[in-house]
Amino acid sequence: MSDNSPAKLDFIREIIADDLATGKHSSVITRFPPEPNGYLHIGHAKSICLNFGIAQELSNVAARCHLRFDDTNPEKEESEYVESIKADVQWLGFDWQEHLYFASDYFDFFYDCAVHLIRNGLAYVEKLSSEEMRVLRGNLVTPGTDSPGRSRSVEENLTEFSRMRAGEYREGECVLRARIDLASSNMNLRDPVLYRIMHAEHHNTGGRWCIYPMYDYAHPLEDAVEHVTHSLCTLEFENHRPLYDWVIANCPVPSKPRQIEFARLNLTYTVMSKRKLLELVQAAFVSGWNDPRLPTISGLRRRGFPAEAIRHFCKRIGITKFNGTTDVALLEYDVRDVLNRSAPRRMGVLSPLRVTLENWHAEPLSHATLPNHPQVPEMGTREVPISSQIWIEQDDFMAVPEKKFFRLGPDRCVRLKGGHIIRCTRYETNADGLVDHVFAEILPGTVGQDAPAGIECRAAIHWADAATAIDAEIRLIDRLFSVEDPDAAEGGFIQALNPCSMQIITAKVEPSLADCPPEFSCQLDRIGYFITDSIDHASGKHCVLNRTLPLKDSWSKQR
Ligand code: ATP
Ligand code: MG
Repeated sequence: MSDNSPAKLDFIREIIADDLATGKHSSVITRFPPEPNGYLHIGHAKSICLNFGIAQELSNVAARCHLRFDDTNPEKEESEYVESIKADVQWLGFDWQEHLYFASDYFDFFYDCAVHLIRNGLAYVEKLSSEEMRVLRGNLVTPGTDSPGRSRSVEENLTEFSRMRAGEYREGECVLRARIDLASSNMNLRDPVLYRIMHAEHHNTGGRWCIYPMYDYAHPLEDAVEHVTHSLCTLEFENHRPLYDWVIANCPVPSKPRQIEFARLNLTYTVMSKRKLLELVQAAFVSGWNDPRLPTISGLRRRGFPAEAIRHFCKRIGITKFNGTTDVALLEYDVRDVLNRSAPRRMGVLSPLRVTLENWHAEPLSHATLPNHPQVPEMGTREVPISSQIWIEQDDFMAVPEKKFFRLGPDRCVRLKGGHIIRCTRYETNADGLVDHVFAEILPGTVGQDAPAGIECRAAIHWADAATAIDAEIRLIDRLFSVEDPDAAEGGFIQALNPCSMQIITAKVEPSLADCPPEFSCQLDRIGYFITDSIDHASGKHCVLNRTLPLKDSWSKQR
């Protein structure tokens, strides 16, 4: 798998290749236009990889991708979101260079275009309530009916619109509508609202405006101002395209962008809408937008999903016109694939069982030497201290071994990774009858050597040195929802939350993990992929590891 392999030509890339071949365009401009009203999620990553990816791939022609904040709604937007979105796009590996834009910078242009429409008899001020408007609009079988405002003169409309802008009306008292076709089979063309009154402060323009443009009106104009050639959006806007084209055809725009729709990404075991994510955050079901269980980019990052894996996943699922739901296991596969190649190995014991090596003095070691990666010798080795008292996983010992259990048991041998082969001599149980202390002997001469003749040793297990291992807080992160389609859950998606999505345990881990920086990814041998927490891990003080994924998909057998 390589991140650099050329993307297959999907239908959008084919359209673009065609437009270049026929000379319709000699350069290509795309854009990613988030509304700064929440954090980005993996669905946005699909759009980012598409838009920025196209610009990156077209190395023979001038091509670029803009990052544009669609901040036309004053009420829901915050600068925290702007900053998080920028950080997420960069972390994903993309660069807008100097092409960072805010739709609110074009408010004057939107206004001028509206005046232009009014002058041409293509827009009018409407004073009906939204309920009255809805009724007069008709429905799929009944055409709409003219409202009184529709026949108002151009002069009157110009006056009324400037009064709207001057703040002479209250919210909801009037709107500006396009005059298109009240009988259109496409409801979006039945004189849609272009501007509404909102007496609200805007983060960028402050109190300058009290009328704000609607998305369907503003978006094509934003694209046109920026000379965007291909405006890529999700399928729910397909029905809005005739309105997009109408705005472009009837406004004094400097360029003519083309809207093309593709299927949005949906994932199993995940909710993707910002509204629902916001609800999870506000109701404190999660610790914040960057909670490692969320499908937000910052959550996935904190959980240890590498940007490379997310990019590869987006490339692999491709771009189509068909809505569907992608199995989250596909994303997890890419994460394991990248981490398997790149994450250094470390050792940690999650359910510690004490082992005393009784004849340690026969051949004591100060440390075991372990490869940082079994397949990548360039990653070097490390020395892990070891002594006569160690921890192993409870699972790696069975007092009465089952068939096909090849690890430690009475009189059985196993290798300690990087160390000796040991043989269990006896064990002790606690008051509950559970094994709580195992005694073993080392077999001298077996470090780095095959088992001597006559000794059966079929497994190597990880361990932690009791004298030097540190206590790490381990967050066993699992899927946030326990059903495939939380959106369809009875009683709502909150009912589908997985009560075990984050269990916290204390583990014994090798001392090197104490000093590593935040966001250090590793594989704990035989257990899974982990990353030191970006917020709570304090180098040298408190080791906090998030489990990115277990080594194997434990959900696959449940389905
Ligand atoms: P949500 O529906 O999650 O609230 P949104 O569409 O309102 O998201 P925007 O900020 O408007 O969020 O999205 C920015 C861009 O990302 C848009 O072009 C949108 O089409 C795209 N996008 C949003 N969600 C997805 C998704 N699940 N798959 C692919 N693209 C998406
Ligand atoms: Mg949106």
